Amino acid sequence: MSCPKCGSRAIVYSCEPKCCFNHVCSDCTSTFQPATEATGGKLTGVAPPDPLPDCTEPAAPCTKCESIAVFQLDDGRLVCTDCGTLLRLLYTEVA
Ligand SMILES: [Zn+2]
Ligand SMILES: [Zn+2]
Ligand SMILES: [Zn+2]
Repeated sequence: MSCPKCGSRAIVYSCEPKCCFNHVCSDCTSTFQPATEATGGKLTGVAPPDPLPDCTEPAAPCTKCESIAVFQLDDGRLVCTDCGTLLRLLYTEVA
């Protein structure tokens, strides 16, 4: 995930999934909420990374099942490891 304003990858997840997906860019202090959109495919049998990312790492909710078990594959695609939906990242509420 990178900042929608300046492209920096220094993104911190400043809240928690049970509240909201507010993220802050450490470089330009923009805030935004990532969301996802299904790209139409499914991928089954994908395991979450081991170890799991820290809770301050950027996270986005699956648009289908609302799980935050959304991870980036080596080829750059995003997949929800709970329901297998292939996803694309969207940025909302950029400020
Ligand atoms: Zn930024
Ligand atoms: Zn919040
Ligand atoms: Zn899902």
